[in-house]
Amino acid sequence: MADDHATITIHHVFGDTANSPSGTNSHTHGLEELRGHHDLQITLPVRPEVAAAVFNRLAHLILNCGMRFRPGDRCPNVANAHMDVGFIASRESGRVVLRVILPDREGNIDPALMDPIYRAAQFG
Ligand SMILES: [Zn+2]
Repeated sequence: MADDHATITIHHVFGDTANSPSGTNSHTHGLEELRGHHDLQITLPVRPEVAAAVFNRLAHLILNCGMRFRPGDRCPNVANAHMDVGFIASRESGRVVLRVILPDREGNIDPALMDPIYRAAQFG
């Protein structure tokens, strides 16, 4: 089932308060069409290349390894060996997407434990 030629598109939209609690709305297109998997969104205002690295890692797992992610799931070792990410349901420009929750500096993904600045940017 692996398809090494499958590609996704990544958009970085800034000042988009309609689709992101932080105004940063980085997201993918293509996972829905290619695999029937919700596309991904990152709202923590990280550098675009950091968001792209996370999207590319997750897209590789979805497209080439057959993995599927749902709200509440976690995925270990994304972007580096110690960075787990979480997922919550979200909407982006009318689409249902999966928001990728990046950890705070202490590695917290749980909103109850997360630094309030990171929490506000990702959970609203
Ligand atoms: Zn887009």
